[in-house]
Amino acid sequence: ATYEVISSPVRAPDGEGALVTLLDVSEREKAGQIRRDFVANVSHELKTPLTALLGFIETLKGAAREDAAVRARFLDIMEREAGRMNRLVSDLLSLSRVESEERMRPSERVDIVALVHAAALTLRSVAQDAGVALEIDTPDAPMEVQGDSDQLVQVLTNLVENGIKYGGAGGRVRIIVTHSPRELAFRGPAVRIDVVDYGEGFDPVHIPRLTERFYRVDSHRSREMGGTGLGLAIVKHIVNRHRGRFRIASEKGQGSRFSVMLPLA
Ligand code: ADP
Repeated sequence: ATYEVISSPVRAPDGEGALVTLLDVSEREKAGQIRRDFVANVSHELKTPLTALLGFIETLKGAAREDAAVRARFLDIMEREAGRMNRLVSDLLSLSRVESEERMRPSERVDIVALVHAAALTLRSVAQDAGVALEIDTPDAPMEVQGDSDQLVQVLTNLVENGIKYGGAGGRVRIIVTHSPRELAFRGPAVRIDVVDYGEGFDPVHIPRLTERFYRVDSHRSREMGGTGLGLAIVKHIVNRHRGRFRIASEKGQGSRFSVMLPLA
């Protein structure tokens, strides 16, 4: 533990003295360290594409200016790098909004069954473009939670897009919604949303750290797939805000299952 020493002089009947207070600042130091690491990570993540962009601009201003084929190829790379920065900034904004709202209980009544079907309309075309089938399996009757529909769509989007990116080789991603009559964590009924893929999976040793910002099982692969390393951190904060639970299970080479449990309204 780290202590801060606060000493204040006191006057006692028999002379001068001092009152010494030891304040345990370990928690504050840890929070400071996490913040410094985060700023360092963000700077690094932004600097990498920026350096690439500056390099290509420099080359385009020089020799490459005359060659149309080279120019087209460089512009493609620059577009990709700018897109990466754009996604990173969007995810940072989402993360900071979600974090600042974490203590505010969401107030909408949201039907998870309808929300999954609506989100699937958009997600199915993302899946199709990647040659992946998106399968939806939900009950027919509505299942309502107290929530924030935009944020719950973001949870589904992040999990399904990960399933497509890292599990696409398995050919299909499934969203399964079930009613869980007595979820222990909530002392009451819950709705459970599973996003399952049959792709590359990962060693379960990574599970405890996977929702940390910028933690990736394979950084090179994540970057290649256009990942920011923030998707699961955003999911975790949104699930917390909904007083829900988030569980991850995976097996290398077998696929992964990301489960969100939310208390029913
Ligand atoms: P990223 O933007 O890198 O995808 P995420 O926070 O969404 O960041 O995920 C963190 C890491 O978790 C990913 O880099 C990847 O290594 C791993 N991961 C997430 N979803 C899956 C999945 N469905 N299958 C395999 N690995 C996954």
